[in-house]
Parts: sequence; structure tokens; C-alpha cells
Amino acid sequence: MSGLRKRPRMDGEHVVECVAAPRAGDLPGGQRRRRCSVRPLAERDICIGCAACAAVCPADAIGVGFREELGKYGATVDEAACSHCGLCVQVCPMLNPTRPADAVAAARMHLSHAADPDIRFRSASGGSVSQLLLSLLRSKAIDGALLVRQGGDAPLLPEYFVARSEAEVVGAMGSLYAPVRLTSLYESVAAAGPQERLALVSLPCTVYGIRRQLATRRGRQRLGKIAVIIGLFCGRTPNIHATRYMLGRLKVEPSAVRRMNYRSEGWPGSIRASLSDGTVVETPYKSPNGMKTLLSSNVFLPKACYFCNDPFACAADIAAGDAWLPRLASNREGCSIVLGHTDLGRELLDAHRDALCPSELSMTEFLSAHGRLAHSKGPGYQHRAWLYTRWHVALRPLMGGRPARISPMVLLREALYMPVFLAMHRARLSSRYRRLPFFLLRLLKVAARVWR
Ligand SMILES: Cc1cc2nc3c(=O)[nH]c(=O)nc-3n(C[C@H](O)[C@H](O)[C@H](O)COP(=O)(O)OP(=O)(O)OC[C@H]3O[C@@H](n4cnc5c(N)ncnc54)[C@H](O)[C@@H]3O)c2cc1C
Ligand code: SF4
Ligand code: SF4
Ligand code: SF4
Repeated sequence: MSGLRKRPRMDGEHVVECVAAPRAGDLPGGQRRRRCSVRPLAERDICIGCAACAAVCPADAIGVGFREELGKYGATVDEAACSHCGLCVQVCPMLNPTRPADAVAAARMHLSHAADPDIRFRSASGGSVSQLLLSLLRSKAIDGALLVRQGGDAPLLPEYFVARSEAEVVGAMGSLYAPVRLTSLYESVAAAGPQERLALVSLPCTVYGIRRQLATRRGRQRLGKIAVIIGLFCGRTPNIHATRYMLGRLKVEPSAVRRMNYRSEGWPGSIRASLSDGTVVETPYKSPNGMKTLLSSNVFLPKACYFCNDPFACAADIAAGDAWLPRLASNREGCSIVLGHTDLGRELLDAHRDALCPSELSMTEFLSAHGRLAHSKGPGYQHRAWLYTRWHVALRPLMGGRPARISPMVLLREALYMPVFLAMHRARLSSRYRRLPFFLLRLLKVAARVWR
């Protein structure tokens, strides 16, 4: 625990690897290649709007704003102001060289849940993240936690804040499957007291950008208050059109929503919209209007998530995700899978065992829960990125690279699906036609089942 009083450590092998790995902008000897910026990525929407590039840009040439047509945040680069220093390329998570399977193999795995049954029940999966934060606050290992919450002028679009009390941590429990304004994270860190030690909870892309910044002296000066990083597993963040479309199916006007709870009460929980007039509209997680079918549909998949290759927050100290284990299928209380990626993470998991009720989890079990995600974001990503850069030559120096081993089956699958995804993305389907891809996707699924 004493580790929290020092600078954040990066001693997990894969964390060192992904922080120190040669990047698209690197030249031998640590010099940076000129004429390299994130502009080609941003222009092709392969940008999740994490704001890491804007935070490091010395020329103030990058803006991050909400793109209504895409339903998510994204960066824009002012070419006239850009000095082509290449710093933004160094921190961009879309160029993350992590290999998820290696990172998981190096991590310590647990099945875990919050010791407090109320937290376990009300949280996203097993409440491990919130319970750990409460335990860190109680032991004064941290002074606050950087968490997301809804509110303000746009309740559907969450923002970061510093939770300094237990009530605030509990209030921020649950998963928000919506784009977050990430510039608020940097604002919150800057506004925190100079001596404060903060925990950060975030998605793998944000975690990666922060970790890359913490690897530099200037980054540590700005973000050194972040003492521990907790990542959430992530397959995607649906764009905001997903939530709006779902609300439409539930006959709820989006402007009437005061708060969305995407994972309320129990496992896997339900999606709940609390309206300004006090009424609550609810749909089960696995219903036709719920997460499994609607929010997880590729119709609402941002292009950045399609090209992301870190589902397990490999650059975090600790990562937590859902426990989709067959043996827990009938469990209604909830469990999380927790990975200790770094020495600091493993130290904290040991020190807070009583709060987290950990039990052993084998690699076989982990893969039964998350093997598809690991495959899609590992070999799937490599084949996808390679195929895409055949056409988009400007991206080759950034994303390029032939997969270490080309698998004809993976290549075929990606080659068949990519035009469908890109066409859907380009069409930015107006709500009038959104039913069509759902119908076609269902047909495709049935055809795939028959083929198998
Ligand atoms: C967009 C998104 C996609 C995810 N995809 C997957 C997946 O594919 N597979 C999987 O196994 N798990 C996924 N998760 C993680 C999962 O939903 C749970 O967050 C995780 O299991 C931890 O559960 P918990 O009960 O311990 O968390 P809780 O105790 O409920 O705490 C969750 C914490 O996460 C913070 N948080 C919520 N939403 C966000 C957000 N959008 N950005 C940053 N912080 C946030 C909250 O402030 C809270 O502190 C995803 C989470 C999110 C937010
Ligand atoms: S290359 Fe340098 S100056 Fe240009 S946008 Fe990136 S960080 Fe800013
Ligand atoms: S993903 Fe993040 S770092 Fe990369 S271009 Fe977008 S905002 Fe910048
Ligand atoms: S899938 Fe990747 S890019 Fe998309 S939100 Fe998750 S971590 Fe970020």
C-alpha cells in the first residue's frame, strides 16, 4: 500500500512493454519522427475522443468535441497550428501495441465480489471496483477517486468528477454505456489539490493515454496525483444514438431522462431510465431492447472501438470485468473478474482481500468468459488493421503492420464483415432505417448458425 505514496509504478511486464514499446512516431535513439500527427486517424473517425492528444499537444492544435452525427466525442487537428512534433501519436490509444492474450497471461486473476451485499447487488457486476475504492478511502490510501457521473445540461453524456466521500463513490456505482466527455478528466485532475492522491477508474483507451503520459516527466507533473489506475474491461462504448434509439423503443423522450442506469440491481441487472417526473422505465439487460441485442449492436459501434485492441485495460494496475462464467449463469448477486496487472495492483488486491472476497480463477475459465473478446481484439484486430491500411495508405505508418501470423479464416471473416461495417458507419443510419440492419444482422446470425 505504501506504493501509493510514491509515483505510480509500471512494473507489470506488459505495462512496461506497452509504455516503452517503439511507436509509429519513434526513431532509433528516442528521437521522434516529424510530420506525424493523429490527424489521419481523427479524419477517418478512428478516434474515441479520449483527449490524451489534446492534453500533450504543445501547439494547442487539437480540439476534442462532441460529434452529433457520430454520437460520440472526437478530435480535430488544426493543421495550420500543428508543428508535427509527433507527441500526440505517442499517447494515442488507437495505436496501442498491447497484445491482450500476453497481458492476461502475465496478470494475476481472481473471481471477486464486494463484501457488502448491498454494493454487490447495486453495482455493475460484483461491485469489486466500488468496494475497493471505499476500502482505499477508508484506509486513507487515497484522498479521492476520479469517477464518472451523469448530470448537468446533458444527463445522457457523463463527465468526470472527484469523488471524495463514500456516498459519492456509491452514487457513481454501475457502468455507463455512453460516451464520456474526457476533457473533464483532465480538468478534474488539474482542479484537485496538489497533494491529493487519486484513484482513476476508466476504460482501457483512456487508461492507456494516461499511462503513456505518466511515462514522461511533463506528464507526471500534470497527472502525478493519479496514484492508482483501475481499468474496466471493454468491448465497446456504444455511441449515444444507441441510448436514444433504445429510449425510443421504450417510448421515452430522451430529453425527459434525468439519469440512466445501464446495470441496475443484480446480475446481469436491468437498464433503468429515471425520468424528471419521477417515473422509472426499465428493461432487462438481456431483453430485445436491452444491452445484449440493442446497445451491443454493431449499428452503434464507433469505428474506434472496431479498431481497438485492448479489452482488458492492460496498462491499468487493476482491471475488472464481468464474470460471464457458465457456472455462474444462475447467480443473481453478481461477480467480477479482477486482474492484477502490476505489482502495485497485486499489492492492493492482497491488502484489501477482506473487501473483495477473492477466489481463484483459472485461465481456462477466464477464456470461457472472455475468449471471444480476446480473440476479436487480438488476432481479429491485427487482421482488421492490416486489411484497412491496404486502402488507407496514410494510416500505414501509424496502424500498419502485417499480422505476425496470417490466419486465412480470421482474414476471411474480417474481409467479409468490414465492408458491411464501413457501409453502416458511412450511412450514419437515420433512425428511420435503423431497423433494417437489425433485421439483416439477425438474418446473418441465423445463416451463421445454420452454417456451423
Ligand atoms: C462502456 C463499458 C463497456 C464495458 N464492456 C465490458 C465488456 O465488454 N466485458 C466485460 O466483461 N466488462 C465490460 N465492462 C465492465 C463492466 O461493465 C463493469 O464495469 C466491471 O465488471 C466492473 O464491475 P463492478 O461491479 O466491479 O463495478 P462498480 O462497482 O459498479 O463500479 C464501476 C465504476 O466504473 C465507473 N464507470 C462506469 N461507467 C464508466 C465509463 N463509461 N467510463 C469510465 N468509468 C466508468 C463508475 O464511476 C464506477 O466507479 C464495460 C464497462 C463500460 C463502462
Ligand atoms: S504533431 Fe505535435 S503539434 Fe501537431 S497536433 Fe500532434 S502534438 Fe500537436
Ligand atoms: S483516440 Fe484520443 S489520442 Fe487518439 S486521436 Fe482520438 S482523442 Fe486523440
Ligand atoms: S472498445 Fe476500446 S476504444 Fe472503444 S471504448 Fe472500449 S477501450 Fe475505448
